[in-house]
Amino acid sequence: MSRVLLISPNTVSDPYPVYPIGMAIISTALASAGHEVRQYDLLVEGRSEDRLKEAISGFDPHYVGISLRNIDSVDSCDPEDNWYLSSDLDLVRAIREATAAPVIIGGSAFSVMPEEILGYLGADYGVVGEGERTICGLIDGLNEKRPMPRITANSVRNGNVETATTCSPCWENGLVDFYKQESGMMNILTKRGCPYRCAYCTYPAIEGHVIRHRPPDDVVDDMEKLKIDHGIDTFYFTDSVFNDEEGGYLKVAEIIVRREMDIKWTAFFRPARMDRETWSLLKRSGLYAIELGTDASNDTALWGLNKQFCFDDIYDFNEAAVRERIPCAHYVMFGGPDETEASVNKGLHNLDLLRNCMVLAFSGIRVLPSTPIHGRAIKDGLVAEGASLLEPIYYFSPDIDAQKMYDTILNSFQRRINRIFPPFDGLALMRKLKSVGYRGLMWNRLVRFD
Ligand code: SF4
Repeated sequence: MSRVLLISPNTVSDPYPVYPIGMAIISTALASAGHEVRQYDLLVEGRSEDRLKEAISGFDPHYVGISLRNIDSVDSCDPEDNWYLSSDLDLVRAIREATAAPVIIGGSAFSVMPEEILGYLGADYGVVGEGERTICGLIDGLNEKRPMPRITANSVRNGNVETATTCSPCWENGLVDFYKQESGMMNILTKRGCPYRCAYCTYPAIEGHVIRHRPPDDVVDDMEKLKIDHGIDTFYFTDSVFNDEEGGYLKVAEIIVRREMDIKWTAFFRPARMDRETWSLLKRSGLYAIELGTDASNDTALWGLNKQFCFDDIYDFNEAAVRERIPCAHYVMFGGPDETEASVNKGLHNLDLLRNCMVLAFSGIRVLPSTPIHGRAIKDGLVAEGASLLEPIYYFSPDIDAQKMYDTILNSFQRRINRIFPPFDGLALMRKLKSVGYRGLMWNRLVRFD
């Protein structure tokens, strides 16, 4: 048995703080393997090094694990220095000053560029992809004094989806109460994997293309426990795409209805057609708002991102949501592959057609390794082959003038409360809503139905 201190360094709380569910899942896996685990969340504890060092000396861990969620804000317009790895470097240094325990890095951000991040942070070991089994195997190996590789990738990364599991997160009472107070909702994962291949996205490289559902009863058990023990009645399903083609999401909804849970939930959807019966089931189970992976505003740009749907699908989905009086937020990126001045103008016209909804727009697309857009950026001469992507580089189609596009979007969105650009304007708005007591998604309060 080892003592393992797990740390979540994410302190981003805009638009709302997100429970460190990855750390909580790893905590369950380690505890199930017989280890003693403590979870330390920097958003809750603050960035005080003294406090962290006290926690380390009080627990005297054999290993320290750090779960990295984000590298940066993926927003080319961000006026603040939101490159999080520099504070992660400070964190590793502070840990080193307090303990000689090996430092293990994991998490979704780490998995995107493990070699570079491990090198930058100077940690001892890295776990790539889903970490439940991998970290237990690594610690076993180290305890048995076997030579272990500095970086270990999990079975999904190696193409073996059969052995991948997802366990129930180990909810910490103090953390749950903090997130309930600060964000008003809890995040729940029902499955892993994404079958799609969108040009900019790292999810499939991290989780694989095969969807693996958690047993839906286990998912709803977790929600029921959070409701009974902590009074949580609002949930965010953090699956990459909630409405999977296999219909696993419907089983979750059916169980919520059967158990008469009386909760609200939201999720990230794909604009796929849903019949009235499906909408009805989802609403009865508590669906109250949808965030939509719209991603681009016109067919040219959707094609360039390999979205495998067209703008008509987005329009139809939004109309169906309006009919059901469910507010939608569309996340849209401008400037991607194949975007031109004409397609930007067409896209802004298209977005004007979307009624009773929120639109949040981004300019440029963060280039990350293992994504098709990386290859495209090299081909278009925007990134040199082998160049580091650790610091943000954004893809802008060579066929647009980025400044002109920025001004055009700004001009189109101006003075409309449900059209947000640049993204930090939206965050400022959310902060205002938070300051007057609103919690949860918040943007849904800005959508009015006729
Ligand atoms: S953007 Fe969404 S749908 Fe596309 S590959 Fe990523 S997770 Fe899947």
